[in-house]
Amino acid sequence: MLVVKKFGGTSVENKERIMSAVNRCAEEYHKGNDIVIVLSAMGKQTDRLLEMAQDINPNPPKRELDMLLTTGEQTSVSLMAIAFASLKIPAVSLTGFQIPMHTTTNYGNARLKKIETERVEYELSNRKIVIITGFQGVNKYDDYTTLGRGGSDTTAVALAAVLGADRCEIYTDVDGVYTADPRIVKNASKLSQITYDEMLELASLGAGVLHNRAVEMAKRYNVQLIVRSSLNENEGTIVKEEIVMEKMLVSGVACDYDVAQIAIIGLEDQPGVAFSLFRHLANHHVNVDMILQSVGRNGTKDISFTVTADMADITVETIKRHGNSSLKCHEIKVENDIAKVSIVGAGMITNPGVAASMFEALYDVNVNIKQISTSEIRVTVLIDQQHVNTAMNAIHSKFELES
Ligand code: ADP
Ligand code: ASP
Ligand code: MG
Repeated sequence: MLVVKKFGGTSVENKERIMSAVNRCAEEYHKGNDIVIVLSAMGKQTDRLLEMAQDINPNPPKRELDMLLTTGEQTSVSLMAIAFASLKIPAVSLTGFQIPMHTTTNYGNARLKKIETERVEYELSNRKIVIITGFQGVNKYDDYTTLGRGGSDTTAVALAAVLGADRCEIYTDVDGVYTADPRIVKNASKLSQITYDEMLELASLGAGVLHNRAVEMAKRYNVQLIVRSSLNENEGTIVKEEIVMEKMLVSGVACDYDVAQIAIIGLEDQPGVAFSLFRHLANHHVNVDMILQSVGRNGTKDISFTVTADMADITVETIKRHGNSSLKCHEIKVENDIAKVSIVGAGMITNPGVAASMFEALYDVNVNIKQISTSEIRVTVLIDQQHVNTAMNAIHSKFELES
């Protein structure tokens, strides 16, 4: 049996945690299983490296930033291999360059394109434990790239897929996937199972427990994914295609602070305006979400939408650049102190009234909704950042998700 085990930052933050992860893997190795380990940087090392770069230059070149950030994972894999050696267990550490893990060229947010398997398979055939850096790869210029924050989960799932692993275990600092971030909603309960689709929505809507591209890939390649704690032996959460329990109306609540709302007031109310707006934004790689268009009045209309916070400036610049031609408008408003709060659940499709209950929960605690968007298995509202904790807790108890 081949198992891929990924340990996140907290799970390798010091010597004790590294040794505890090593002992856990050693036990499984001695049972005869083949083990591939994927590691994050130790503790908050990625944040520290980012701060060091920004301290020298507030706008560091992206290539150099990736060069720097990849050292975090390189430190943890080598230390873990050293730890295995102290127990006389054969292990080898490998970077994204050595595998190699080929990615697209975009530094800071590269995508995995192809993972070579020869080296890993060779080491496994010699009964070595293979320890691989998460979050990184190499592009066509032979430069290091990173996969975006939280990307080690994606490395692990991708490796499990290409190696045909029997399962992929994600070890983290919580017992599994909860009905809400347990740091925000104290009585959130752990889910024993969740479908890929629900998990994908939750991860994309801010539930940082799994990288959304990891879930996407697990679904595509049918990888058995388990999220569990590295700090205890509790059973975790299984993420898979179909779950045996009856689908819950709502399986989770998530929030995302990484959002800005752009409102364009007084656009001309004629064909081609929305096309022109979103084409220009797409050309500048601005990903747009939660689009809302008002009813036209006096020959004008308003369009508002959300983008990730770091894209707000480029969005406004792009609109202004075309303000004399295709995108004439009265005013552009930007709101930054906002957040998205979402509910996700496969049971929503067949149950009317779920959105109404969510809105009622918000009304009960006097939280105003700025914008709404829905899909078959999700409802998202935009609210003021200061109300996120109140809103999450109110919604969570409205749907009785407590443990
Ligand atoms: P790691 O370093 O192990 O990858 P992360 O910090 O990336 O850990 O992810 C784990 C954290 O995700 C938890 O500590 C928790 O605060 C947060 N989280 C957000 N939403 C959820 C959720 N629905 N279930 C569990 N954890 C969540
Ligand atoms: N070390 C990287 C980060 O902190 C990748 C990861 O942990 O998944 O984002
Ligand atoms: Mg993570």
